[in-house]
Amino acid sequence: MKRMMLGAAAAMAIAAGVTAWAQAPAAAPAEVVTYIQAGALLDKPGSRARGNSTIVVRGGKIAEVRDGFVGGEAGSKVVDLRDKYVLPGLIDMHVHLFSTGRPLESRLAASSQDNEDDAFEGMRNARRTLMAGFTTVRDLGSEGPAIIALRDTIASGDLPGPTIVPAARMVSVSGGHGDVNGYNRTLTKAYMAERDNVCDGADDCRRAVRRQVSHGAEVIKFAASGGVGSNVAGGLGRQMFDDEMKAIVDTARLFGRKVTAHAHGADGVKAALKAGVDSIEHGSYIDDEAIGMFKSGKAYFVPTMLAFQSVVEQAKRGERPVASANKAFEVEKIATKNISHAIKSGVRIAFGTDSGVGVHGINAREFKLMVDAGLPPAEAVKSATVNAADLLGRSAQIGTIEVGKDADIIAVTGDPVADVTRLQTVDFVMKRGTVHKLTGKQVLVD
Ligand SMILES: [Zn+2]
Repeated sequence: MKRMMLGAAAAMAIAAGVTAWAQAPAAAPAEVVTYIQAGALLDKPGSRARGNSTIVVRGGKIAEVRDGFVGGEAGSKVVDLRDKYVLPGLIDMHVHLFSTGRPLESRLAASSQDNEDDAFEGMRNARRTLMAGFTTVRDLGSEGPAIIALRDTIASGDLPGPTIVPAARMVSVSGGHGDVNGYNRTLTKAYMAERDNVCDGADDCRRAVRRQVSHGAEVIKFAASGGVGSNVAGGLGRQMFDDEMKAIVDTARLFGRKVTAHAHGADGVKAALKAGVDSIEHGSYIDDEAIGMFKSGKAYFVPTMLAFQSVVEQAKRGERPVASANKAFEVEKIATKNISHAIKSGVRIAFGTDSGVGVHGINAREFKLMVDAGLPPAEAVKSATVNAADLLGRSAQIGTIEVGKDADIIAVTGDPVADVTRLQTVDFVMKRGTVHKLTGKQVLVD
């Protein structure tokens, strides 16, 4: 009935000469069905993998998951991954897509690089991240308008990249980890004029959160403690007061946003947990009291061990200013031991790399570091799929391969649970039903 009425309306429009030149609208193209034939299917990480299976993808979504190999009717596509392990697209809880991972170069470039250079850098890093098998990322610190533009261009399908959940800028205090630092006074003044993420006092911190939301932040991040990367000799302990943290969390909740805190010092970790955050990033000095708070609450711990490795390597190469290098060496001594203790104590872990501190596209190296720190391999894979989706509040869309979810699917050679380093070489990437990476002769019928 509806169709008939539309038809009548179109005929009337043509009769009236409004669209007399237009062709009748073509029938919508038949929806392409893709059959992904998987040798083994780790559809729900944390559970056992299935044997030979076929995932039916329609309209960017998972329409069916069937046993054995099926598909191949006229007009459909078959992706032959019969000798591969197929699993959900990976999710990284902590990246900075506009950061190069080359700190020395970045500081030199600060005086010569324009927004256009930054834009292409972000596009390049997004592409590398997707090709590494990461179909969703949480960007925890980029210029608001830039990361939103990148998110939207990728979402439109015009640019290859992961789904981005942006935080815009990290909310921080004056002199804190997210403040402008390490530049001459002319550059500092210019950068500060653009920043609206720095706040002092509870009211001002409410403003800073609201500004990030107004830019389009989908999650709020704040710096509860000092940071390794900032050129401030202020240590790695807590740098924000209780009322400031509480104001940040409460304001974020009013807008329906989740909150994560950058925190190294145990005092910062505990204060942020007490304020009610959903996750803690880094946690290098995490202690038993903090571990107890994690276990009695619902927050996730995002250890970002790859970032520790990157900053230490950069500091050794002389690429970091003295204040930053000293903090890197200080953290190196204790972080792995403390994080390992937290992991072995059963704290809930979500996968994050802080890529942008180091280069992009090597995110999957974090898996090995997690396993070396005592996380069972199956749990490591779960941390980058099921757990990360939960932390994002997107378990209904991503994190497993189940009917109705987004067709975010990757494949590797060999069992990734038996050897997590296999996740460092990804042979197939599909995001929302679009194939972005194929190696070998996997398309049988086209
Ligand atoms: Zn970070």
